[in-house]
Order: sequence, then C-alpha cells, then structure tokens
Amino acid sequence: MSDIHIDGLTKEFDDVTAVDDISFDVDSGEFLVLVGPSGCGKSTTLRMIAGLEDITSGELRIGERRVNELAPKERNIAMVFQNYALYPHMTSAENMKFGMKSVSDYTSEEINERVRKAADILDIPELLDRKPSELSGGERQRVAIGRAIVREPDVFLLDEPLSNLDAKLRVQMRAELLQLHRELDATTVYVTHDQTEAMTLGDRVAVLNDGQIEQVDPPQMLYDFPDTRFVAEFIGSPAMNIVPIDLAFGDGAVAHHESFELSLPNPELFTERPDSAYFGVRPEDVSLVDNVAGDPETFEAEVSVTEPLGESLLVHCLLGGDELHVKAEARTELDAGDTVELCVDEERLHVFDDAGDAIYH
Ligand code: ATP
Repeated sequence: MSDIHIDGLTKEFDDVTAVDDISFDVDSGEFLVLVGPSGCGKSTTLRMIAGLEDITSGELRIGERRVNELAPKERNIAMVFQNYALYPHMTSAENMKFGMKSVSDYTSEEINERVRKAADILDIPELLDRKPSELSGGERQRVAIGRAIVREPDVFLLDEPLSNLDAKLRVQMRAELLQLHRELDATTVYVTHDQTEAMTLGDRVAVLNDGQIEQVDPPQMLYDFPDTRFVAEFIGSPAMNIVPIDLAFGDGAVAHHESFELSLPNPELFTERPDSAYFGVRPEDVSLVDNVAGDPETFEAEVSVTEPLGESLLVHCLLGGDELHVKAEARTELDAGDTVELCVDEERLHVFDDAGDAIYH
C-alpha cells in the first residue's frame, strides 16, 4: 500500500509558518492536487513529503511506515520539478538512469530495460541519445517524467511540472499525464497554482491558503459546494460573484441588497442565521432576461463593461455600489450604460458569513 497520511504537519522557517498544522490523506493510486496562490505552502508541503525539508511537527506516513525521519531515498518516492533538473552533459537515457543509480540492487540490464519501457510509455525512444540542449521544453519534461518512472516509485510528487510550457503544450501534457496516471496507477501528489490544471487533473483537490487547508474534495464538489469564500473565489474562472447582503429570517429567508431582494428557497439549510452576510453566485448562474419589470424574481442593473470571451460574453453589471459579473450568450448586443434585467438561479446560491465560512448552499 502506498497511501499517504498527513497529520498535523507544520513547517516553520524562523518566524514564518509556511505550513500550519495541515492534515489530509492521499489514497493508494489517487491523484491529489495541491492548489493555492503563490506562497501558500504548496511546495513546502510537497518537499516535506519528499524528505527534502525537515518537518517541524506533525506526522507523515507512507503506507504503514512513519517516514518523518527517513532520508528521501528511503521513502521510495520520485519527484518531478518545475525546471526539470536534468543534467546538461548527460543524454536523456543517462538522465533517466541517474534516477536509479542510488538504488543499488539492479543490474545494468534491468536498468536499461526500465529506461526502454519508460521511453516507450512516454513515446520518446528516439530522444534517448540526445542531450537536454537538443530537446524542446515539452521533450525535456517527458525525460524528467521518464526519470521518475524508471524508479517505479510508490509515490510520484510533481511540483508545477507544466508551468514552463506554452499554453497549447500544457493542455496536451495535461491529457498525457492523466493517461500516464491511468497506466501506472501510482499515488500522485501534484502541486500547481493553476486552478484549471487542478480541476482537470485531480481525483481530489486540496486548496491551501496561507499555510492551511481550506477544503479537500473532488473538483466538482469544490466548484458546487465551496466550504469557504476563499475556495469559492479561487476555483472557477471568471470568479464567483460575492456581494454583501442583509438577511431576514421569518417563515423563510430573504436576502436584502440595495438593488435586489431574493427569497432563498431552502431556509432550513442555513447553518447560522446572522443579520448580515455575503451572497455568492457564479456568473453562469445569473441570466439576462427580457424586460419583465415588476417580476419580484428579477432585478435591474446597469452594464458597465462587456468582455467577449469567444464562447460567451462576460457582462459587468453595477448593482448599486457593487459589481456582478454575468455570463451571457456570445454576440449579445449590449453597451456600457444599458439597463438589463437579471435573474439568478436560486438553486445555485451560496451565503458566506463574515468569517468566510459557507452557511448556505
Ligand atoms: P509558489 O507557488 O510561489 O511556489 P508555494 O505555495 O509553493 O508558492 P512555498 O514555496 O511552500 O509556497 O512557501 C511558503 C512560505 O514559506 C512562503 O511565505 C515562503 O516565503 C516561505 N519559505 C519557503 N521556503 C523558505 C525558506 N527556505 N526559508 C524561509 N522561508 C521560506
């Protein structure tokens, strides 16, 4: 078994707490993505799993073994770095073999066989005799992944492996990584700051913020039911709209804003009943409706800017002093200053309390 158990893991650098008491598990064979903004502690977490960074406190187990004190080479993990970390004077084959040199118990025939096998999986047999300077960025990345594969590790750790590639190649490599994961079925922890990459690759995604875990869930769960305002705004592009509201609870629950009033359809779902809160709705869950003035379910807003996104039109609307982004059909004819009538999908609303925790969705 190569599941990973992380319990209360903390890393302090002098007066900086880079990772602050985080706990989560990665199941055997699972692809878990660590995502969050720059400086939130993703790489430090990965480096602690790899054994490249001492653990200040907490426990790390891989399978049944506590590995806190084990050297990297005793953990049976392989790591792929953002900058590939290939040796420039070595060919691809030599770089890939180098991943195994520290592992003593193999004959050179066994090592060559593993390199050939990894090269086949990655479709790079013709690149084995070239040096890194003779490879494109994407090819170098394949060699770096090949070096990890030849070790046949229990756990793959990848730190922003696609960030040096251009956008098109990134999308292609994303699909290849998924395919590779299906073939190898190895436990994988993947670090990225890119929420699209996180959503497309992860069986589950752990969102980190300021050294702490905000939520660990499958991608669609994060998107549909963010536990916190941070997750709601970080996952999804364009981001979820967040607008301050007052709340009134009687027979039902009503959200009041200077520009609209909405009945929330399932008041029993509220986990708290504060007087004021923040209302969240994704741009695709707000629609432009033909003028039905007087309909209590719709409200007026003024268009401030329109942004054509190709497949849709993002309309920035002014709601009193707040902004609401609406995803409208592409080629909708609108100009700044126009008045539009909006309607929200009331089954897809979120409410967050002042502390940023979800209290309704
Ligand atoms: P990025 O996406 O920018 O790589 P990250 O989420 O991977 O960011 P980390 O590199 O883990 O973030 O850094 C977390 C925090 O710890 C940051 O505040 C960083 O400045 C700090 N930090 C990281 N390494 C060290 C170090 N060796 N000494 C002191 N502080 C460090």
